[in-house]
Amino acid sequence: MAEPVVAYIGLGANLGDPRGAVLSAMQAIADLDGVVITRKSSLYGSAPVDAGGGDYVNAVVEVQTWLTPHDLLARLHDIEQVAGRARPYRNAPRTLDLDILLFGERTLDDGQLTVPHPRMWQRAFVLRPLAEIAPALVTQDQLQAVADQPIWAL
Ligand code: ATP
Ligand code: CA
Ligand code: CA
Repeated sequence: MAEPVVAYIGLGANLGDPRGAVLSAMQAIADLDGVVITRKSSLYGSAPVDAGGGDYVNAVVEVQTWLTPHDLLARLHDIEQVAGRARPYRNAPRTLDLDILLFGERTLDDGQLTVPHPRMWQRAFVLRPLAEIAPALVTQDQLQAVADQPIWAL
């Protein structure tokens, strides 16, 4: 079997039972064939950015995966669908959002998938949990740049 790749997945939800959705999604990711969770951040609360709706529950997980980036994205979309994800408009409140933040050293941009996630560095709700589980990947300057965004430990 080829070497697995270390990837980071951002989880977020602000509709229904956000905490339950994020915790269930972590389990669903752990249950995927070809994916092993190696680290889980704690849960964070954050105010919506550029969007209405209630506060978010956010987290980041580190995985080792044998899947291709597109296969991983497809499996994450399956998990979102089971959680009842709808996309009525951009940045709409959501029962579950799963984004691939980093996929090893890969850079990809093909219309389906962009990695690293192009907006991750602007988002405290990504950088704070990511820094918790992978401090070498986030600089103090990057954290400082999003320090004005409300985020709190749950
Ligand atoms: P944002 O990308 O700003 O976080 P969003 O998560 O609300 O916004 P979605 O509606 O969940 O956006 O996703 C729209 C599309 O983005 C997906 O169908 C997927 O094909 C594409 N996409 C591109 N890059 C990624 C990525 N790194 N992770 C997840 N989806 C991605
Ligand atoms: Ca997102
Ligand atoms: Ca998404």
